[in-house]
Amino acid sequence: MACLDLTVVGSSDAFNAAGRAHSCYLLEPHDEALGPVMIDFGATSLMALRRLGRRPSDIAAFAFTHLHGDHIGGFPFLAIDGMFNEPRSQVMKILGPVGVQSRLEALLGVTYGDILDRPRPYELDFRELLPGGEATLTGLAVQGFPADHMDPPEQPLCLRFTVPSPEGDKVVAFSGDTRLGDGLMAAADGVDLLVAECSGLKHPIGRHCAWEDWLTYLPQCTAKRVVFSHLGAAVRAARERLLDEVPAGSPPVTFADDGLSLTL
Ligand SMILES: [Zn+2]
Repeated sequence: MACLDLTVVGSSDAFNAAGRAHSCYLLEPHDEALGPVMIDFGATSLMALRRLGRRPSDIAAFAFTHLHGDHIGGFPFLAIDGMFNEPRSQVMKILGPVGVQSRLEALLGVTYGDILDRPRPYELDFRELLPGGEATLTGLAVQGFPADHMDPPEQPLCLRFTVPSPEGDKVVAFSGDTRLGDGLMAAADGVDLLVAECSGLKHPIGRHCAWEDWLTYLPQCTAKRVVFSHLGAAVRAARERLLDEVPAGSPPVTFADDGLSLTL
């Protein structure tokens, strides 16, 4: 029996490739006592969420993989939406890597001045998650794994969520942005769904996963299903051909688009 919906709110890289919204995912357990949780919220995420007809004030918690603008840049708009547009009453729970509170508060200050000192109808509840750490967020178990994307003191994360269900727990992992390495492989191990970044076809593309990495790794990947997202322009343009290249023995592969919804 199904226990969660996963909606790709945005599927692009940092550059809004092919006019898509920044990488952003809504995890909605079917149990109303749990979640829902948003994973990352880039500069265009509020627009993408509204395009899906969804309300930010209904989302209990926000988890961030790392503190780059295409993953956190929508936070100021989210924060003021709950103050001035659709007043939010429930606590906004925020879980993210080391420094998440100071970075998001600084972002608010840069974009909206003294907004943090003004009355707000909801509370912000910040918590940090370390690589190797565990937390509970709106009833969901969350594990953090080290992503290879930024230099210390930044500690970017791959995130893994376990959604409890009487019929058997479901596990969904998010790569965030990272090179394909031990942290991502550990996060992906045995999960029901891996949402993984694929920013380009080949290196050099910085500390990201390229399609050439996935061609090598997919046959060993123990995730039951893989959705590629954070797609750069070249990957999106070539996605039909890339599906034909998926090696035998790989888990089922899908390329994400904004609005893609899966039920597990
Ligand atoms: Zn990114």
